[in-house]
Amino acid sequence: MKRISFEFFPPKTEQGREKLLNTQQKLLVKKPEFFSCTFGAGGSTRDYTKQMVDLLREQHPDTAPHLSCIGQSRDEIMELVNGYKEKGVTRIVALRGDLPSGMGYAQSEVKYADDLVALIRAETGDHFHLEVAAYPENHPQSRSFGDDIDHFKRKVAAGADSGITQYFYNADAYGYYMDELRRRGCDAPVYPGIMPILNVANLFRFSDNCGADIPRWLRGRLTDLQDDEAAVKAFGEEVVTRLCERLLAMGAPGLHFYTMNQATPILRVLDNLGL
Ligand code: FAD
Repeated sequence: MKRISFEFFPPKTEQGREKLLNTQQKLLVKKPEFFSCTFGAGGSTRDYTKQMVDLLREQHPDTAPHLSCIGQSRDEIMELVNGYKEKGVTRIVALRGDLPSGMGYAQSEVKYADDLVALIRAETGDHFHLEVAAYPENHPQSRSFGDDIDHFKRKVAAGADSGITQYFYNADAYGYYMDELRRRGCDAPVYPGIMPILNVANLFRFSDNCGADIPRWLRGRLTDLQDDEAAVKAFGEEVVTRLCERLLAMGAPGLHFYTMNQATPILRVLDNLGL
């Protein structure tokens, strides 16, 4: 049985939250292991994330808040973590996060995701299942492929249970990443993060920012189609379905969907996969 999980970002309005609960309801038919809700850089969505996690947990108790440490004090982090523990949250996606340009990482009390994992483990023991980020195409700040593997291993050594990858459209990147992790003695499960293709301009902009590679052939096809929303969605569905098929055939233990708060594109891919 492959693990399926769905990620949302927290809406800022009442109407947005209601809409998202409706989306969650639709996705429940796929029996996900968990939902997750992102956390804005430097704590910018702190309250929205908390509020949304409470609401999402009413329909699925295993809903994981994302928590990024950068730009937050140790006390602010522990206040959140202890609050989640008291409410019965049992999973956290533990991240470093990004700061707006110009703000130095050096000032942060808890600097990297491995420090965050170590802090949560030291303070709360085994209470939480801790997910961390993995980068088959390398994080933009990593010096090399091997450097990136070392960072992931450091997070597992600090107490992380499993990884979720940044999205990618080249299945081989995941295959080689997993081969190298295993060769270096790390056997933590790593779940591919899957980004649906919905809006070409947004996807290009976001990918350029986070270092996700859009292969040249795919960039070209999407550029041709970009003014035809229906064509983008149909082609995107096919590309993402094939990517997931390959990943599952390669032994990926499951799939984590960046839903962009939409149910239909994800449900269609899962239907295509027979999941
Ligand atoms: P880290 O694992 O700490 O690593 C980032 C980089 O820091 C490394 O590549 C390395 O260059 C350097 N580094 C790490 N450890 C050390 C060390 N000990 N010594 C020296 N250098 C080191 N962002 C958000 O703001 N909110 C979210 O909700 C969010 N959710 C995400 C979910 C997933 C599944 C993924 C893949 C990413 C998510 N992100 C989110 C983005 C993430 O915060 C950024 O990619 C960020 O730049 C790195 O975070 P990280 O946890 O991977 O950092």
